[in-house]
Amino acid sequence: MKIGFIGLGIMGRPMALNLLEAGHELKVWARRPESMAPLLAAGAAPGENPADLGSWAELVISMVADAPDVRQVMLGEQGLACRPRSGLVAADMSTIAPVAARAIGGDLAAAGIDFLDAPVSGGEAGAIAATLAIMVGGSQAAFDRALPAFAAMGKNIVHVGASGAGQVAKAANQVVTGMGVLAVAEAFNFARQSGVDPARVREALLGGFAHSKILENHGQRMLERNFKPGFKAWMHQKDMNIVMATAFELGVMLPGAAATAQLFNAMVGQGLAEKDSIALLELLEQLSGR
Ligand code: NAP
Repeated sequence: MKIGFIGLGIMGRPMALNLLEAGHELKVWARRPESMAPLLAAGAAPGENPADLGSWAELVISMVADAPDVRQVMLGEQGLACRPRSGLVAADMSTIAPVAARAIGGDLAAAGIDFLDAPVSGGEAGAIAATLAIMVGGSQAAFDRALPAFAAMGKNIVHVGASGAGQVAKAANQVVTGMGVLAVAEAFNFARQSGVDPARVREALLGGFAHSKILENHGQRMLERNFKPGFKAWMHQKDMNIVMATAFELGVMLPGAAATAQLFNAMVGQGLAEKDSIALLELLEQLSGR
Protein backbone atom coordinates (compact mmCIF):
# COMPACT_ATOMS: atom_id res chain seq x y z
CA MET A 1 0.00 0.00 0.00
CA LYS A 2 1.00 3.68 -0.32
CA ILE A 3 2.37 4.77 3.05
CA GLY A 4 3.70 8.14 4.23
CA PHE A 5 6.12 8.17 7.17
CA ILE A 6 7.07 11.14 9.38
CA GLY A 7 9.70 10.93 12.16
CA LEU A 8 12.78 8.96 11.16
CA GLY A 9 14.67 8.77 14.46
CA ILE A 10 15.87 5.81 16.53
CA MET A 11 12.52 4.02 16.15
CA GLY A 12 11.04 5.50 12.98
CA ARG A 13 14.03 4.79 10.75
CA PRO A 14 14.04 0.98 11.16
CA MET A 15 10.21 0.84 11.18
CA ALA A 16 10.09 2.68 7.84
CA LEU A 17 12.83 0.45 6.42
CA ASN A 18 10.75 -2.61 7.36
CA LEU A 19 7.75 -1.18 5.47
CA LEU A 20 9.93 -0.87 2.36
CA GLU A 21 11.28 -4.38 2.92
CA ALA A 22 7.70 -5.72 3.02
CA GLY A 23 7.05 -4.19 -0.43
CA HIS A 24 5.02 -1.12 0.53
CA GLU A 25 5.39 2.10 -1.47
CA LEU A 26 6.89 4.68 0.86
CA LYS A 27 7.12 8.47 0.89
CA VAL A 28 8.97 10.04 3.83
CA TRP A 29 9.36 13.47 5.34
CA ALA A 30 11.64 14.77 8.10
CA ARG A 31 12.67 18.20 9.32
CA ARG A 32 16.33 17.43 8.80
CA PRO A 33 17.55 16.11 5.42
CA GLU A 34 20.07 13.83 7.16
CA SER A 35 17.19 11.98 8.85
CA MET A 36 15.64 11.24 5.42
CA ALA A 37 18.89 10.16 3.73
CA PRO A 38 18.97 6.45 4.79
CA LEU A 39 15.36 6.00 3.65
CA LEU A 40 15.92 7.67 0.29
CA ALA A 41 18.98 5.47 -0.22
CA ALA A 42 16.77 2.42 0.43
CA GLY A 43 14.21 3.44 -2.20
CA ALA A 44 11.67 5.70 -0.45
CA ALA A 45 10.46 8.84 -2.22
CA PRO A 46 11.03 12.24 -0.59
CA GLY A 47 7.94 14.21 0.49
CA GLU A 48 7.87 18.01 0.41
CA ASN A 49 5.99 18.28 3.70
CA PRO A 50 3.38 16.32 5.70
CA ALA A 51 0.58 17.77 3.50
CA ASP A 52 2.25 16.20 0.46
CA LEU A 53 2.21 12.79 2.21
CA GLY A 54 -1.45 13.22 3.22
CA SER A 55 -2.57 13.92 -0.34
CA TRP A 56 -0.66 10.93 -1.76
CA ALA A 57 -0.84 8.10 0.79
CA GLU A 58 -3.56 5.69 1.94
CA LEU A 59 -1.94 5.62 5.39
CA VAL A 60 0.36 8.17 7.03
CA ILE A 61 2.35 7.11 10.09
CA SER A 62 3.99 9.49 12.56
CA MET A 63 6.77 8.46 14.97
CA VAL A 64 7.81 11.78 16.49
CA ALA A 65 8.29 12.77 20.15
CA ASP A 66 5.30 14.18 22.06
CA ALA A 67 1.72 15.45 21.52
CA PRO A 68 2.65 18.97 20.25
CA ASP A 69 4.83 17.34 17.57
CA VAL A 70 2.03 15.00 16.49
CA ARG A 71 -0.42 17.91 16.38
CA GLN A 72 2.05 19.95 14.32
CA VAL A 73 2.68 17.30 11.64
CA MET A 74 -0.98 16.32 11.45
CA LEU A 75 -2.95 19.55 11.97
CA GLY A 76 -0.37 22.35 11.69
CA GLU A 77 0.53 24.55 8.75
CA GLN A 78 1.53 22.11 5.95
CA GLY A 79 0.15 19.31 8.15
CA LEU A 80 -1.22 16.14 6.59
CA ALA A 81 -4.81 17.35 7.13
CA CYS A 82 -4.33 20.26 4.63
CA ARG A 83 -5.52 18.38 1.53
CA PRO A 84 -6.00 14.73 2.51
CA ARG A 85 -6.57 11.93 0.03
CA SER A 86 -10.09 10.51 0.35
CA GLY A 87 -10.22 7.67 2.90
CA LEU A 88 -6.86 8.61 4.48
CA VAL A 89 -5.95 6.87 7.74
CA ALA A 90 -3.45 8.60 10.05
CA ALA A 91 -1.71 6.38 12.61
CA ASP A 92 0.39 7.99 15.32
CA MET A 93 2.86 5.48 16.77
CA SER A 94 4.63 7.93 19.13
CA THR A 95 3.91 7.78 22.87
CA ILE A 96 1.61 10.67 23.82
CA ALA A 97 -1.13 11.22 26.43
CA PRO A 98 -4.43 9.40 25.83
CA VAL A 99 -6.32 12.68 26.24
CA ALA A 100 -4.15 14.31 23.55
CA ALA A 101 -4.63 11.35 21.19
CA ARG A 102 -8.42 11.57 21.57
CA ALA A 103 -8.35 15.33 20.88
CA ILE A 104 -6.15 14.93 17.78
CA GLY A 105 -8.39 12.08 16.59
CA GLY A 106 -11.47 14.29 16.99
CA ASP A 107 -9.90 17.17 15.05
CA LEU A 108 -8.76 14.84 12.26
CA ALA A 109 -12.23 13.27 12.03
CA ALA A 110 -13.58 16.76 11.33
CA ALA A 111 -11.17 16.89 8.36
CA GLY A 112 -12.42 13.48 7.13
CA ILE A 113 -9.37 11.53 8.34
CA ASP A 114 -9.60 8.33 10.40
CA PHE A 115 -7.10 8.41 13.27
CA LEU A 116 -5.48 5.53 15.13
CA ASP A 117 -3.29 5.84 18.21
CA ALA A 118 -0.84 2.96 17.79
CA PRO A 119 2.09 3.24 20.21
CA VAL A 120 4.68 0.50 20.42
CA SER A 121 6.84 -1.40 22.87
CA GLY A 122 10.00 -3.38 22.16
CA GLY A 123 12.59 -0.65 21.78
CA GLU A 124 15.10 -0.10 19.02
CA ALA A 125 15.86 -3.85 18.86
CA GLY A 126 12.17 -4.63 18.31
CA ALA A 127 11.91 -1.91 15.67
CA ILE A 128 14.89 -3.34 13.75
CA ALA A 129 13.65 -6.95 14.02
CA ALA A 130 10.03 -5.99 13.18
CA THR A 131 8.87 -7.63 16.42
CA LEU A 132 7.28 -4.59 18.10
CA ALA A 133 4.20 -4.93 20.27
CA ILE A 134 1.67 -2.51 18.75
CA MET A 135 -1.30 -1.38 20.87
CA VAL A 136 -4.04 0.31 18.91
CA GLY A 137 -6.98 2.59 19.70
CA GLY A 138 -9.57 3.68 17.13
CA SER A 139 -12.24 2.28 14.82
CA GLN A 140 -12.24 -1.32 13.64
CA ALA A 141 -12.43 -0.17 10.00
CA ALA A 142 -9.29 2.01 10.32
CA PHE A 143 -7.50 -0.76 12.21
CA ASP A 144 -8.28 -3.25 9.42
CA ARG A 145 -6.94 -0.85 6.79
CA ALA A 146 -3.70 -0.19 8.68
CA LEU A 147 -3.08 -3.83 9.71
CA PRO A 148 -0.87 -4.79 6.71
CA ALA A 149 1.49 -1.93 7.61
CA PHE A 150 1.49 -2.81 11.33
CA ALA A 151 2.20 -6.46 10.43
CA ALA A 152 5.39 -5.36 8.64
CA MET A 153 6.66 -3.64 11.80
CA GLY A 154 5.43 -5.77 14.68
CA LYS A 155 4.39 -9.19 15.94
CA ASN A 156 1.87 -8.70 18.74
CA ILE A 157 -0.71 -6.32 17.29
CA VAL A 158 -3.70 -5.73 19.55
CA HIS A 159 -6.75 -3.58 18.84
CA VAL A 160 -7.22 -2.48 22.46
CA GLY A 161 -10.37 -0.37 22.06
CA ALA A 162 -11.71 3.03 21.03
CA SER A 163 -9.62 6.16 20.38
CA GLY A 164 -7.02 6.69 23.14
CA ALA A 165 -7.12 3.04 24.30
CA GLY A 166 -3.77 2.30 22.62
CA GLN A 167 -2.14 5.13 24.58
CA VAL A 168 -3.75 3.92 27.82
CA ALA A 169 -2.16 0.50 27.18
CA LYS A 170 1.18 2.16 26.43
CA ALA A 171 0.99 4.23 29.64
CA ALA A 172 0.33 0.98 31.54
CA ASN A 173 3.32 -0.52 29.72
CA GLN A 174 5.51 2.37 30.92
CA VAL A 175 4.37 1.82 34.52
CA VAL A 176 5.65 -1.75 34.24
CA THR A 177 8.86 -0.98 32.31
CA GLY A 178 9.71 2.13 34.38
CA MET A 179 9.43 0.20 37.62
CA GLY A 180 11.17 -2.75 35.96
CA VAL A 181 14.24 -0.66 35.08
CA LEU A 182 14.24 0.75 38.63
CA ALA A 183 13.93 -2.75 40.13
CA VAL A 184 16.88 -4.13 38.14
CA ALA A 185 19.05 -1.05 38.77
CA GLU A 186 18.29 -1.22 42.51
CA ALA A 187 19.05 -4.94 42.65
CA PHE A 188 22.40 -4.51 40.85
CA ASN A 189 23.39 -1.52 42.99
CA PHE A 190 22.41 -3.47 46.13
CA ALA A 191 24.46 -6.51 45.05
CA ARG A 192 27.54 -4.45 44.21
CA GLN A 193 27.36 -2.41 47.43
CA SER A 194 27.11 -5.77 49.27
CA GLY A 195 30.39 -6.87 47.68
CA VAL A 196 28.75 -9.38 45.31
CA ASP A 197 29.17 -9.44 41.52
CA PRO A 198 25.91 -8.18 39.93
CA ALA A 199 26.65 -10.29 36.82
CA ARG A 200 26.49 -13.48 38.93
CA VAL A 201 23.35 -12.20 40.67
CA ARG A 202 21.70 -11.57 37.26
CA GLU A 203 22.65 -15.08 36.14
CA ALA A 204 21.08 -16.58 39.28
CA LEU A 205 17.93 -14.46 39.07
CA LEU A 206 17.29 -15.29 35.40
CA GLY A 207 16.37 -18.85 36.43
CA GLY A 208 13.68 -17.82 38.91
CA PHE A 209 10.57 -15.67 39.28
CA ALA A 210 12.60 -12.45 38.89
CA HIS A 211 13.19 -13.35 35.24
CA SER A 212 12.10 -10.62 32.84
CA LYS A 213 13.13 -9.17 29.49
CA ILE A 214 14.25 -6.11 31.40
CA LEU A 215 16.56 -8.18 33.63
CA GLU A 216 17.80 -10.08 30.58
CA ASN A 217 18.33 -7.31 27.99
CA HIS A 218 18.56 -4.06 29.94
CA GLY A 219 20.33 -5.89 32.80
CA GLN A 220 23.05 -7.07 30.41
CA ARG A 221 23.51 -3.53 29.05
CA MET A 222 23.69 -2.17 32.63
CA LEU A 223 26.49 -4.65 33.38
CA GLU A 224 28.31 -3.52 30.22
CA ARG A 225 27.62 0.08 31.26
CA ASN A 226 26.30 0.63 27.75
CA PHE A 227 24.16 3.73 28.23
CA LYS A 228 23.99 4.70 24.54
CA PRO A 229 20.30 5.38 23.67
CA GLY A 230 18.13 3.21 22.86
CA PHE A 231 15.42 4.91 24.78
CA LYS A 232 16.50 8.34 26.02
CA ALA A 233 15.98 9.14 29.70
CA TRP A 234 14.01 12.30 28.83
CA MET A 235 11.63 10.17 26.75
CA HIS A 236 10.98 7.88 29.73
CA GLN A 237 10.49 10.97 31.91
CA LYS A 238 7.96 12.23 29.32
CA ASP A 239 6.12 8.89 29.51
CA MET A 240 6.01 8.86 33.32
CA ASN A 241 4.69 12.43 33.16
CA ILE A 242 1.88 11.15 30.87
CA VAL A 243 1.15 8.37 33.36
CA MET A 244 1.06 10.70 36.36
CA ALA A 245 -0.99 13.43 34.62
CA THR A 246 -3.57 10.83 33.54
CA ALA A 247 -3.70 9.34 37.05
CA PHE A 248 -4.12 12.84 38.50
CA GLU A 249 -7.07 13.57 36.17
CA LEU A 250 -8.72 10.29 37.20
CA GLY A 251 -7.86 10.47 40.91
CA VAL A 252 -6.01 7.16 40.73
CA MET A 253 -3.18 6.40 43.14
CA LEU A 254 0.02 5.05 41.49
CA PRO A 255 2.61 5.11 44.29
CA GLY A 256 5.25 3.01 42.51
CA ALA A 257 4.99 4.94 39.26
CA ALA A 258 5.15 8.23 41.19
CA ALA A 259 8.47 7.28 42.82
CA THR A 260 9.85 6.11 39.47
CA ALA A 261 8.76 9.36 37.80
CA GLN A 262 10.67 11.33 40.45
CA LEU A 263 13.84 9.37 39.69
CA PHE A 264 13.53 10.08 35.96
CA ASN A 265 13.07 13.77 36.87
CA ALA A 266 16.31 13.51 38.84
CA MET A 267 18.09 11.88 35.86
CA VAL A 268 17.17 14.85 33.68
CA GLY A 269 18.22 17.27 36.45
CA GLN A 270 21.56 15.47 36.79
CA GLY A 271 22.34 15.90 33.09
CA LEU A 272 21.59 12.28 32.13
CA ALA A 273 18.68 13.17 29.78
CA GLU A 274 20.32 12.06 26.54
CA LYS A 275 21.64 8.77 27.96
CA ASP A 276 19.54 5.61 27.82
CA SER A 277 16.96 5.40 30.60
CA ILE A 278 18.87 2.43 32.08
CA ALA A 279 21.52 4.96 33.19
CA LEU A 280 19.15 5.17 36.17
CA LEU A 281 21.74 2.79 37.62
CA GLU A 282 24.29 5.65 37.56
CA LEU A 283 21.87 7.90 39.44
CA LEU A 284 21.33 5.27 42.14
CA GLU A 285 25.10 4.80 42.46
CA GLN A 286 25.60 8.57 42.81
CA LEU A 287 22.84 8.79 45.43
CA SER A 288 24.39 5.86 47.33
CA GLY A 289 27.57 7.93 47.55
CA ARG A 290 29.75 5.17 46.12
P1 NAP B 1 14.11 10.15 18.35
O1 NAP B 1 15.25 9.27 17.99
O2 NAP B 1 14.37 11.42 19.06
O3 NAP B 1 13.29 10.42 16.99
C1 NAP B 1 12.19 11.29 16.93
C2 NAP B 1 12.09 11.79 15.50
O4 NAP B 1 10.93 12.60 15.41
C3 NAP B 1 13.28 12.63 15.08
O5 NAP B 1 13.78 12.09 13.88
C4 NAP B 1 12.70 14.03 14.89
O6 NAP B 1 13.10 14.69 13.74
C5 NAP B 1 11.22 13.77 14.70
N1 NAP B 1 10.42 14.87 15.23
C6 NAP B 1 10.24 15.22 16.53
N2 NAP B 1 9.42 16.27 16.62
C7 NAP B 1 9.08 16.62 15.35
C8 NAP B 1 8.30 17.63 14.80
N3 NAP B 1 7.66 18.52 15.57
N4 NAP B 1 8.20 17.70 13.45
C9 NAP B 1 8.85 16.82 12.66
N5 NAP B 1 9.62 15.82 13.14
C10 NAP B 1 9.74 15.73 14.47
O7 NAP B 1 13.04 9.36 19.25
P2 NAP B 1 12.62 7.80 19.24
O8 NAP B 1 13.38 7.10 20.30
O9 NAP B 1 12.61 7.29 17.85
O10 NAP B 1 11.11 7.92 19.80
C11 NAP B 1 10.02 8.31 19.00
C12 NAP B 1 8.72 8.02 19.74
O11 NAP B 1 8.63 6.62 20.02
C13 NAP B 1 8.60 8.73 21.09
O12 NAP B 1 7.26 9.12 21.31
C14 NAP B 1 9.01 7.64 22.08
O13 NAP B 1 8.45 7.86 23.36
C15 NAP B 1 8.46 6.41 21.41
N6 NAP B 1 9.13 5.15 21.74
C16 NAP B 1 10.50 5.06 21.76
C17 NAP B 1 11.09 3.84 22.06
C18 NAP B 1 12.61 3.67 22.10
O14 NAP B 1 13.07 2.65 22.63
N7 NAP B 1 13.40 4.59 21.58
C19 NAP B 1 10.31 2.71 22.33
C20 NAP B 1 8.93 2.81 22.26
C21 NAP B 1 8.34 4.05 21.96
P3 NAP B 1 14.57 15.21 13.41
O15 NAP B 1 15.27 14.02 12.84
O16 NAP B 1 14.36 16.27 12.40
O17 NAP B 1 15.14 15.70 14.70
